Amino acid sequence: MSNIAPLLDRNRAFAGDPGARQGMPRLPFIPNLNLYIVICIDPRVDPAEILGVRLGEALVQRNIGGRITPAILRDIAYVGYLVDTKAPEGPYPEVAIIHHTDCGSTLLADDELRHGFAQRIGTDERTLADTPVLDPARTVQTDVHRVLWAQGISQKIPVSGHVYDVDTGLVTTIVDAKASA
Ligand SMILES: [Zn+2]
Repeated sequence: MSNIAPLLDRNRAFAGDPGARQGMPRLPFIPNLNLYIVICIDPRVDPAEILGVRLGEALVQRNIGGRITPAILRDIAYVGYLVDTKAPEGPYPEVAIIHHTDCGSTLLADDELRHGFAQRIGTDERTLADTPVLDPARTVQTDVHRVLWAQGISQKIPVSGHVYDVDTGLVTTIVDAKASA
């Protein structure tokens, strides 16, 4: 039996309650709270729990560290392009980047571990050196600017940066929402 079995049980309960799927956004790329959250895959930082994000309220993208990578930039650009072309009156979702304390990405700061992983996946070690969230208040500022300065992303998209403390459970805003235009 698959590990997902208990969740499939919960899914049947969910599907049996049509009310749970009401109030969904008319356009899925303009969610109800106009938010596009980028956050780590760490199971302790699930936005549905730590921020109370409900169904239909936000686009949520997760990767190691919640870092702004070329793949994430491409997806943000795509959402901005959809708004430009399908709903030019907006609103444009705000990209809220959240880094957190005690992040597993910090293991990539270890030279030996980073070298071994770079060999394993056949990549340049320097690209991995950019990943660790050693100081979330600093890396989140770097990543806010990566989005604001990226080519191809609508300048109407506001970007904000935050840090989640896994010990206190509190989120602190480091960079208030701002757009590049
Ligand atoms: Zn993490």
